[in-house]
Amino acid sequence: MRGREIPENRKDYSQPVMRIFLSYFRPHIGLFVLDLSCALAASLIDLAFPLAARHAMYHMLPENAFGAFFAIMAVFVCAFALKSLFQFIITYWGHMFGVRVEADLREDLFVHIQSLDFAFFDRNRTGQLLSRMTGDLFEITEFAHHGPEDLFIAGVTIIGAVIIMFAIQWRLALVILVLLPIFLCVILLCRRNMVRTSKRVKENLAEINGEIESGLSGVRTSKAFANEASDYGKFAEANDRFKTAKCDNYKAFGQFNSSLEYFMSIMPVAVMAFGGWLVMRDRMNYMDMITFYLYISTFISPIRKLGNFMEIFMNGWAGLVRFVTIMRTEPEIRDAEDAAEPETVEGRIDLEDVWFTYDDNKDVLRGVDLHIRPGETVAIVGPSGGGKSTLCQLIPRFYDVDSGRVCIDGTDVRKIRTSVLRRAIGIVQQDVFLFADTIEENIRYGRPDATEEEVQDAAAKAEILEDILKMPNQMDTFVGERGVRLSGGQKQRVSIARIFLKNPPVLILDEATSALDTVTESRIQNAFDKLAEGRTTIIIAHRLSTIRNADRIILIDEGRITEEGTHEELMKKNGQYARLYQFSTAG
Ligand code: ADP
Repeated sequence: MRGREIPENRKDYSQPVMRIFLSYFRPHIGLFVLDLSCALAASLIDLAFPLAARHAMYHMLPENAFGAFFAIMAVFVCAFALKSLFQFIITYWGHMFGVRVEADLREDLFVHIQSLDFAFFDRNRTGQLLSRMTGDLFEITEFAHHGPEDLFIAGVTIIGAVIIMFAIQWRLALVILVLLPIFLCVILLCRRNMVRTSKRVKENLAEINGEIESGLSGVRTSKAFANEASDYGKFAEANDRFKTAKCDNYKAFGQFNSSLEYFMSIMPVAVMAFGGWLVMRDRMNYMDMITFYLYISTFISPIRKLGNFMEIFMNGWAGLVRFVTIMRTEPEIRDAEDAAEPETVEGRIDLEDVWFTYDDNKDVLRGVDLHIRPGETVAIVGPSGGGKSTLCQLIPRFYDVDSGRVCIDGTDVRKIRTSVLRRAIGIVQQDVFLFADTIEENIRYGRPDATEEEVQDAAAKAEILEDILKMPNQMDTFVGERGVRLSGGQKQRVSIARIFLKNPPVLILDEATSALDTVTESRIQNAFDKLAEGRTTIIIAHRLSTIRNADRIILIDEGRITEEGTHEELMKKNGQYARLYQFSTAG
């Protein structure tokens, strides 16, 4: 788990979307120019061949100039070999350009998303963010690379051919010039249909993937409720919609292909019909007619490219707008310019008249005053939804207070560098997140530069070392996705070992043992007690028997502190805490 310095992104995302897009071209401009130069050279070779053939027909064939004629043909054999080399460069290096732009976009997006705060992740779904990191970026880069290239090749070839044709025989060229936009419109219309239907296919695919994903991940629940039929029903409906969308898409594809085929066949017929008429009227000779034939065959691929461009443009632009929207989302929580970076943190915590709401609807915390001495252990209890976890989230500044202030060692947390602040606080939650890696790496997450001995030591303190040594690969045992191969108690102890390594002066245990059975809980309690030694500790506990020894107990109900004191004091008071305690221990 090697750390790397996070790159700083100095781009200004308030600029127009196109400007932002082009700014990603700049570092790879060399490749981009190479791509376009090869595209230009390939188009010029395509354009030159009919002209050279015409010259040969005019001046060499009538004079039986074998030598010169075959020399020209040989030159074109070489020129087309060169063109295939250009084609290779366009395909390979052009895509390389796309890959590099994509990597830059992905890096900026990742770093930016990492910098966003909890509120952003409350509003956005992981699945959608993931699809932006993959699908959207791919489409943006297809646009970055194929967009200019297709437009350029099509533009140069079509405009070049039309100009040359006008120079040869303007009447016939005029016919083609009239036909060309008509066909282009028909093809674009068909293509638009295709884009529309393919968008529906994508939406339906996302939906069916969602159904499959929830069907698979929820299969145990589904079986337990014997609800296979209703789950199948949901899946089958999504499957039908997907099927219909795909059929519509293929219909549009069929229409597009048949109109393109028609266009490809009708162009030579038009040249033959009108050209033939001109020949019969002695206004044109066969040689020019053959030249026209050759030119219209060079049209076909650019026309295809133009059709292609529209789809690439629409998908790419939509992805680009979504990308820029995320990049323009400013993190609400940022370091102040003059943020303090205290060398050591003692661990005094003060909440002064703290008010907080998540979505401006309901005040979750209403004027909380709480002062915790360094090294003190404070337990927070109270009915579910009262605001206990929220209060704890304000200390590491996962959210900012609406009014009042939260201080560490007397300094407002908004004036301390967040990295320093968060390094000083260790949090253990009920839901432990383990990475799909080895146990060792998961523990080392607490301090990436820890040595093997330190990791072992932390595991021993967290009372997990014994369990680890019994495992087949010991420290190198793979914990599975989200740690599925470990028991709930083992996962919890890995997370405790992480905190031992991190060694923060402040500790927050948020319902850390609530999901465990009482036997496992009492085993882990030992590890927690060791962990809490010499640290300021806040414990949110569900089972009140576990917090009897806390220095102080705070009861929070509906966002306010309603009772405060030691266990004995609160029991004597015989208020809400005493009732909760009796209820909890009776259960
Ligand atoms: P407790 O820890 O006491 O059970 P919480 O602090 O988790 O209570 O929640 C307090 C209130 O805030 C609840 O009404 C809950 O619905 C709401 N809440 C908690 N987290 C969020 C969130 N991320 N976004 C919006 N509301 C939230």
